[in-house]
Amino acid sequence: MNELQDLYRELILDHSRSPRHFGKLADATHTAEGINPLCGDKLRLYLRVADDDVIADAAFEGSGCAISVASASLLTEIVIGKTRDHALEFFQAVTRHLTAPNANTTVDIDLGKIRALDGVREFPTRVKCATLPWHALNSAFKKQAAPVSTE
Ligand code: ZN
Repeated sequence: MNELQDLYRELILDHSRSPRHFGKLADATHTAEGINPLCGDKLRLYLRVADDDVIADAAFEGSGCAISVASASLLTEIVIGKTRDHALEFFQAVTRHLTAPNANTTVDIDLGKIRALDGVREFPTRVKCATLPWHALNSAFKKQAAPVSTE
């Protein structure tokens, strides 16, 4: 278990130090901003959704703590190539998984690298950092103009 935790810690550090798909997406079809006032995380997510509802590209910009940046970086890796519906299923599963009161609660979807964020479940304030980019994803598809806030 310790080895796995070390691996997860490495993954989060890696993604927070060298976030994937970081920057603005010039030809984005969907965008939303996520704000977590408690921590000071402020991220904008960009998506380019193709005609067949597949997310062809994703990117994010902004600033935040290591958890929020790593989560956003992982999100972009995960959603590229997925359909809108599949990505939203992932949003539901990630938020349900990370906010579950019981650490053994599982969801019926393979969360893959997202499991690296499992450690935040013990810290409710950090859960908001981890789920922030996912709420932005949901908001982008709802075409909400106002930023989504955790508070
Ligand atoms: Zn944060």
